[in-house]
Parts: sequence; structure tokens; C-alpha cells
Amino acid sequence: MFSPCSYNPSREKYLNALDEQEKLEKRFTQEQELLRRALVRVSVAAEGQDQTLDDLLSRLRDSLRGGIRGDLTGLIGQLDQAAIAFEEHKTEGALEIREALTQSIKPLQTFKLARNTKKNIDQYLTQLPERSKKIHLYPALLQQLAEIQKDALQQIEQPKTGFLDKLLGGKKDTAVAQDDSATATENPEIKDVKIAKSATEKTEFIKNDDDKNPIRPSNNLTSNTQAIVSSPLTPEFISRITEVLQAFLASLENEIAIKTKAENLRQEIDRGLGVDTVIPTLENLRNLVMEAYLAANAAFANYLNSVNVELTEIYSIVGNAVIQQESQHQAGQQLQASMLQGMKDLELHATNATDLAQLKSQVKSQIDHIKHALDNYQQSTRSYSLGDQLEDLSKKIKALEMESEKNRNNLETQRHKALTDPLTELPNRQAYNERAQIEIQRWQRYNRPLSIAVFDIDFFKKINDGYGHQAGDRVLKVIGRSVAKRLREADFFCRFGGEEFVALLPETSAEAAFPVLDKIRDAIANAALNYKEQPLNITLSIGLTDFRNDDTIDSAFERADQALYQAKQTGRNQVKMQ
Ligand code: GH3
Ligand code: MG
Ligand code: MG
Repeated sequence: MFSPCSYNPSREKYLNALDEQEKLEKRFTQEQELLRRALVRVSVAAEGQDQTLDDLLSRLRDSLRGGIRGDLTGLIGQLDQAAIAFEEHKTEGALEIREALTQSIKPLQTFKLARNTKKNIDQYLTQLPERSKKIHLYPALLQQLAEIQKDALQQIEQPKTGFLDKLLGGKKDTAVAQDDSATATENPEIKDVKIAKSATEKTEFIKNDDDKNPIRPSNNLTSNTQAIVSSPLTPEFISRITEVLQAFLASLENEIAIKTKAENLRQEIDRGLGVDTVIPTLENLRNLVMEAYLAANAAFANYLNSVNVELTEIYSIVGNAVIQQESQHQAGQQLQASMLQGMKDLELHATNATDLAQLKSQVKSQIDHIKHALDNYQQSTRSYSLGDQLEDLSKKIKALEMESEKNRNNLETQRHKALTDPLTELPNRQAYNERAQIEIQRWQRYNRPLSIAVFDIDFFKKINDGYGHQAGDRVLKVIGRSVAKRLREADFFCRFGGEEFVALLPETSAEAAFPVLDKIRDAIANAALNYKEQPLNITLSIGLTDFRNDDTIDSAFERADQALYQAKQTGRNQVKMQ
């Protein structure tokens, strides 16, 4: 009696939609995972983007715009690779910069410098491997390099010891020019030594450390020696001079350029100073100091020249990084061009530089240029920073989620449509299949009663034939709703197909269901139905059974259907139970 439900377009649509959703969700999960990975990669690499990465990111953004179309796996794979390649490139760059900075500062270690300066240099070199990995620390690294250089430069340009200060009995460590006069007046031992003050003044050039051209030593010392000649050179004073001179020579020992001369002079002093030898010894020592000073200057000039070369290399590495990272910023390129020109000029000046002060100022301005470039670089990269990129990408992910949400809603609508009979708005056969599955599982698990009833409108064909198809439709709608209304909330009632309906009655035995269904049958049979003001007598035949033993959905249905057949065969408008 029941023809199996043939082709059902709604169901087909539903199944397709399910497939579609499954695929969509799978793809969404995969893509989310890929995007997450891309985000991680980007966050690693974004500290210094490059053109390839930028291009790929922009393609990724384009692909995500307006939802996901096509396969992103390839693109994100490329992004991964570009990020890895860029990291490697960055590491290489950092190594080169580290080497260049090391080479720039290492020569300073060969000079005799204050403990603090040495400590700074050591610290700088220790921290360099880690710090040179981070491009944003370059300005700080260069600034520090400049400061250490300046510090070292001041020390190297000063004489190695406050010779006359020591000679005049000042504190051993006092080497600062301004302290000399104070020391001279405070020390009672030298009050009557007239050479003290004037000699200090005449040797001022030695301590005059800075950017002015070094003042050439004059022969003033000779005229000052007149004071010594006329002063009483007691044995105590001679021995004091000897002691100080030896200490002074000891401090010059490390100056390779004058090592032999210093040794000779020391031997001479060891042989004993006399009235006639003290002045030539002093003059020899003065000459030696000058020689050491000039030798140190020459060494430092060489050092500065090499620093200039190193800095130019650093510049070219840093500059290339700046070009890469700034390529989308016009301003960055302009800055780059002006820096290049500035550096060319500086190189030219460095080659032609004739004195130390000139070199110093060139090195300083070179460092300033690099710092300036890096500052600008930092500012402009901040305009499209890692944060912006991440925000951009997370916006795309949000859009993706919204898209999926929309699809989910669409699907929900489609699912509802696919499970609903459009004419009666009752659940359809597909919905029955799903619900029957749930109910039979519940019945199996909890062993609770479950009944099934099939309804069939009697002589429905006659209604179609007598009143037309539209009348038939109207009857289907009214009868369907009318039965549904009379069942409980927990019951399931659907249009199974044609003029057939099925009810699933959970928690209800067939015995308990029977009177309920009979009451419904009676209500329909006695309902005053009209079609275009013509009365319609509609009756229902109902077959009822409950789930038992090893029943399946089909076996229980079959039994109910047989009961229905029995109801039809034995006069219709009745409920039969099996
Ligand atoms: P019986 O009492 O033995 O069930 O007789 P019957 O006429 O109801 O049974 P039969 O199976 O011969 O006819 C069912 C009819 O229901 C045939 C079909 O045209 C009609 N029908 C099925 N679906 C629809 C529908 O959606 N709308 C309308 N108007 N008629 C339908
Ligand atoms: Mg029928
Ligand atoms: Mg019928």
C-alpha cells in the first residue's frame, strides 16, 4: 500500500547541502590552521620585511578578500618559504654586521685605556652576538660604539701619565690638566721649586685633548729649565726626580714605538743623575713623551681610517636592509639616496683627511648618518608594523568566520526546508528517518515503550477526482495539521508521502496509543469540513503497533502498515493494532 518514497528534490538538496557544509567546515579548519601558521611565520619575519614577503602577503590578503576562493595552500606555502628564506638572510646580515662592529672596536683593546673603558669594550663585545641579531638595536649599538670611541680617543690623545704632575709630587693617578695647579700649591715639598707652575702651563698642549689641531711642542721647556738650574738640587730632590722618572718610564714601557729609547733612558737614570745630567734627561724624556704621543696619534689615525672603512661596510649592509624593508616607502628611498651621497662625501674626506680631528669628526658624522637612517627606518616601518599586519590578517580570519557563520545559517534554512513538507508544513519523510533513528536508539537503550502508527486518508482519490487537486491539497493540509494538533508535544508526526502520515509515540505502548488514535480518527470523521461551501466527509484508516523484541525501524513500520491494510480491508475509518 505504501509506495517507497521515490525521488525527492528537497531531500537531494539537503544531502548536497550537507556535503557542501562538511567540505566547507573541513576547508575552513584547514585554512584557519594554515593562517595561524602563516601568522606565526609573519610574526617571526616581520621584524624586517622584504619585498617577496610583502608581495605574498598582499596576494594572501587579496585572496582572502571577499571570502575564500580557490586553494590558498600553495600561496601560504610560498609565504612560509619566503619567511624562512628571509630569516636566513637576516641571520647572515646580522653576522656580517656583528663581524664589522667587532672589527671596529677590537683595535681599541690594544691601547692602554682606563679600566672603565676597557670594561665597556668587553661588555660591548660580549653582548654584541645577541644584540646584533636585532635590527632595531643597531642605532643603540652604533651610538655605543661612538661613545666608546670618543672615550678611548680622549684617553689615547692624552699623555700616558701626568709626567710633570708626578715629577712635582702630585697624586700618582692625577693626570688631568686642571688639577696640576692645585696640586702644585697644595704640596709643601715643591713650594720653592719655581719650575712647577710655568712648566705645567707650557705642557698644556699634551692635555689639550680635543678637536682642535694638536699644538706642536715648542722649546719652552728649555727656557723653563733655567729655574731648575738656579734651584738647590739637593740629593733628596735628585732621588725624588729619579724615582718619579723611573715610574714614568715604566708607564711608557708598553709604547712599542719608543721601547728601546725608553730602556736606554732608564739605564741612563739608573747610572745616577747629577746636576749636569738632570736637564738633558728631562729633555730626553720630554722628547720621548712627544714621540710616544705622536706614535699613538698615528696609530689612532690608522685605526680611525680602518673604522671608517668598517663603518662604510656596515652602512652598506644596513643600507641594503633599509632599502629592502623600505621599498614601499618613497621617503625611505629618498633618505637612502641622500645617505649614499653623504657617505660618498665622507669617504672622500676620510681619504684626504690630514689630521686626527678631521677624521674624528668624519667618523662621528658617518655614525650620525647611519643612526639617522635607522631612526627613520624605525619610524617608517612602525607605520606598517607587525601589529598592523597581524590585525589585518586577523580581520581576514574574522571575515572568514563570518562567511562561515552565514553559510551555517543558510544551511540551517536549507536543512529546515529539506526536512519539511512544503504543503502541510509538517516534517517530511527525511525528517522521519532521522527521528526514527533517534527514537529507536532511545527505545533500545532504555527499553521504554515506543509506538508507531500509519495513517491513510480513505478514498482520497475520490476527493481529487470529485473536487479537484486543489481541494485534495487543502484536505491534506487541514487533516495533517488537525492530527498534529491532537498529538502530544513529545510525539512525532509527519507526512510520509501522498495522503499518508506516520506518527512515532515515545513512552507509549500500543495499548495506550490506541484510544488516543481512535479519538483522533473520530474527531476527523466528525469534523465539519467544507470545500467551497460543499461539505466533505473525510475519514482516516490507522495501523498501529509498538516496537518489540528485535524490531528495526522497518520491521515495526511493516507491522503498522499491515495493520493499516487490515483497517482498509475491514471497512476503513478505523484503527487496527498488531
Ligand atoms: P484508499 O482508501 O484505499 O487509500 O483509497 P485512496 O484513493 O486514498 O488510495 P489511492 O492510493 O488509490 O490514491 C491516493 C491518491 O492520493 C492518489 C494521488 O493522486 C493522491 N495524491 C497523492 N499525493 C497527493 C497530493 O499531494 N495532492 C493531491 N491533491 N493528491 C495527492
Ligand atoms: Mg494511500
Ligand atoms: Mg488513501
